[in-house]
Amino acid sequence: MSVGASFLEQVNRAFDRAAGFTNHDPTLLANIKASKNLFYTSFPIKRDDGRIEVMHAWRAEHSHHKLPCKGGIRYAETVDAEEVQALAALMTYKCALVDVPFGGAKGGIRLNPKQYSMGELERITRRYVFELVRKNFMGPGLDVPAPDVGTGPREMAWIADTYSQLRSGELDALGCVTAKPVSAGGIRGRVEATGRGVFYGIREACTVAEDMKVLGLSTGLAGKRVVIQGLGNVGYYAARFFQEGGALLVGLAESEGAIANPKGLDIEKVMAYRRENRTMVNFPGATNLPRREDALELDCDILIPAALERQITAENAPRVKARMVVEAANGPTTPEADEILGKRNILVIPDAYINAGGVTVSYFEWVKNLGHVRFGRMQKRFEQGAYSRLLQAVEGVTGRMFTAEEIERVTHGASEEDLVNSGLEETMIGAYHPIRKVWKDQSGKIDLRTAALIVAIEKVALSYEQLGIFP
Ligand code: NAD
Repeated sequence: MSVGASFLEQVNRAFDRAAGFTNHDPTLLANIKASKNLFYTSFPIKRDDGRIEVMHAWRAEHSHHKLPCKGGIRYAETVDAEEVQALAALMTYKCALVDVPFGGAKGGIRLNPKQYSMGELERITRRYVFELVRKNFMGPGLDVPAPDVGTGPREMAWIADTYSQLRSGELDALGCVTAKPVSAGGIRGRVEATGRGVFYGIREACTVAEDMKVLGLSTGLAGKRVVIQGLGNVGYYAARFFQEGGALLVGLAESEGAIANPKGLDIEKVMAYRRENRTMVNFPGATNLPRREDALELDCDILIPAALERQITAENAPRVKARMVVEAANGPTTPEADEILGKRNILVIPDAYINAGGVTVSYFEWVKNLGHVRFGRMQKRFEQGAYSRLLQAVEGVTGRMFTAEEIERVTHGASEEDLVNSGLEETMIGAYHPIRKVWKDQSGKIDLRTAALIVAIEKVALSYEQLGIFP
């Protein structure tokens, strides 16, 4: 059985378990679960040395209950039809959980980006977009990609440019893809959004004294020992925000190996060392672990898999020492592992909720592109003026003059980045409590993943009912 097939089964099994706790018509539930569209294409690409290679690419649209569909594009050797379908389904549930009005989608090309030059990757990306557009699998109102493993703002800029050329004159063309560089229509705060969202979500979960007590943990993030697997877009920013939030990074794993230090590792120093030496192995003061997977079994409070799916399995779950497993990656815990962790009273914070920060800020970017105006542009200076007048009035009444620092702090008008981060924080905090409530209401019968999926199913079901398709 391929990894993709198992991953799709994993997502569908979790759906079925959650669906069993709802009262919806089985046909409606079957409709929510089923993937709506699957596009496959293959095309030839000329390598720099003149060889021709055939590429294989997919795009799955899991749900059309809201349009456009939304989901990243992955460049990895594991990509196949089932993997993109599994990831697209997760996107549907994720968007529903954080009230982002999109259906789920995911795409990918089967390749290892490290084996291709930048020019080759650009040719591949542009050709993929051409095929998607030809088949109506892309557009600001149809299907809007974003980055995933192996892609980033650079690829998104190529995608936006290709789409704009194919749809010359389309007013909203820039809304065809998100996580673009800011200079190409992106939004400030998108690059770090998923990692920042992971931080906001866990910080919120750690405020609940009752839940922390059950885990034998204190409230708050200060001093919590954290291990992170994968220091790409999601893992690196999560590491940065946890460190800034007072947590201790006691273990880090990347493709070349893993390092540990119970006294804490400085993420910026590790990244600088890794850039210089092309590895983080032998980082001064740290211990090298025999195998990179050993990081998952380190003694810590919070384990954050932020690399790929199916990392915590029935094999290693019995040895996980963390009290919380935070699924920054999509699908890092197999169903068997999930069960073992549950029995061992380890709290799993599920992917569909905890890594939703990326799609949340992608939604803000899409709204910005459709609005054709930067957030904060209209009100920043007005707010500053209003707050300044207010402070002057207070000074007039009290006779106390504010310092320059106090004036700056109070009169600061919201910039685009302030608004994005604030909207993300509000979203992650606001989405956690309804999930937790369902979890608690079932008093021990379900885990947090099932609770999250119940919340998601209820929201998607409501959309279908409002469309009048199902009673
Ligand atoms: P990325 O390609 O930027 O980073 C992944 C990192 O993991 C790379 O640095 C890679 O070297 C490392 N890695 C791969 N295999 C590893 C292994 N066995 N052990 C340790 N490290 C390993 O990808 P990303 O965008 O950070 O995505 C990571 C995960 O987060 C994926 O599951 C993705 O679907 C999910 N995700 C990403 C976003 C986003 O906005 N980028 C949003 C939601 C979810």
